[in-house]
Amino acid sequence: MFNVQSIREDFPILQTQVYGHPLVYLDNGATTQKPRQVVEAMVNQYYTANSNVHRGVHHLSTVATDMLEQSRETVRKFIHAASVDEIVFTRGTTEAVNLVASSFCQQEMQAGDEVIVSTMEHHSNIVPWQLQAERKGIVVKVIPMTDEGVLQMDAYEQLFTEKTKIVSVAHVSNVLGTVNPVAEIIRIAHTHGVPVLIDGAQSVPHMPVDVQALDADFYCFSGHKVYGPTGIGVLYGKREWLDRLPPYQGGGEMIGTVSFEKTTFNHLPYKFEAGTPDYVGATGLAAALDYVSAIGMDNIAAYEASLTQYALEQMAQIPGMRIFGPISASLTSQVDEYSSDNCQLSIVNCQLHRGSVISFLVGDIHHLDMGTLLDRLGIAVRTGHHCAEPLMHRLGIEGTVRASFGIYNTFEEIDAFVSGIKRVASMF
Ligand code: PMP
Repeated sequence: MFNVQSIREDFPILQTQVYGHPLVYLDNGATTQKPRQVVEAMVNQYYTANSNVHRGVHHLSTVATDMLEQSRETVRKFIHAASVDEIVFTRGTTEAVNLVASSFCQQEMQAGDEVIVSTMEHHSNIVPWQLQAERKGIVVKVIPMTDEGVLQMDAYEQLFTEKTKIVSVAHVSNVLGTVNPVAEIIRIAHTHGVPVLIDGAQSVPHMPVDVQALDADFYCFSGHKVYGPTGIGVLYGKREWLDRLPPYQGGGEMIGTVSFEKTTFNHLPYKFEAGTPDYVGATGLAAALDYVSAIGMDNIAAYEASLTQYALEQMAQIPGMRIFGPISASLTSQVDEYSSDNCQLSIVNCQLHRGSVISFLVGDIHHLDMGTLLDRLGIAVRTGHHCAEPLMHRLGIEGTVRASFGIYNTFEEIDAFVSGIKRVASMF
């Protein structure tokens, strides 16, 4: 059973006081806090098993190499990939998208060929394609969305031409919380023979993800958003695609043999891991995935859906409140307290409609003012365009205030957040 109090005890930073108030950390979409288990796993490796991996014959190097490969297996299991060869460690989601954009365009695209992204993408899933547009003359096409922040699937289907070579979309919007119908997006792309990259930065921390069930060709996420360390992330790629694509960066680890005349490349996944990998980061990421797996991704999705539903309910009662993203009728039913029954109900809502991200504005209060004044009450939210400027243009706004929830947030914290908004609003 989900026990939020015992989870909170694993996160020392949650004891922080901010301007005399207990910290209410609602910026999990930007990065999550780290449990002791993650930090200790990394410290232990530095204290007992630190050595560069893969080329060493000595004891410590063998131990560190085994740990890295065990971490890769933990990732494989977590997203249900078919093989560890399909798990590439990257610096994060951003590097993973850049890797695919660069290698895929080099091999598979000509000037005039098209990539389809959506209106609600993070800059990380726009700019890498634009760089390729400048370098190779590829064309970026955009799936439109409704005013409620739902992708228009009819329009999506109509974007395909014989020049469409790849689709790249977010699983969950980091601004709207929209859970995109990625299985359907992938199915439609495959009927056109087109592969799909899914940006899972905002989904992997919050719901079970099965890359084989989705039939995703590429899927990526960041360790630091799933209670792991910064500087490590994952690119999953189907073996057939990773085998076919050229390396992204050159250097140590990714080679077979090197001479000045000809270099051959290592087998998967090392072909895409140039240089010393962040093996201690991989240990921390595996510890984080073990941590959330022990709680259960279904339980996490259900709990966070209840929190989100409760927050939406409370926020909707504030005069002048404008919430961005899908608000379904089912989200207006009151959740008085957490129970597994409610959560079963909510998990359906969550998968259909939204993740645990709420972007909002109140009246004409500037998002920066709201964020700054909430901070004075100990409440950490993010303000601005959230690295999604094209989405802001679509919504006709400059920015929003964004609250994003994680496994350690409580209903009491939502109450503090809502009364904080009311207090700030009363000052204007
Ligand atoms: N995509 C989405 C949807 C995100 O929310 C983020 C992080 N805000 C990223 C990509 C980029 O992740 P990172 O900075 O960890 O590479």
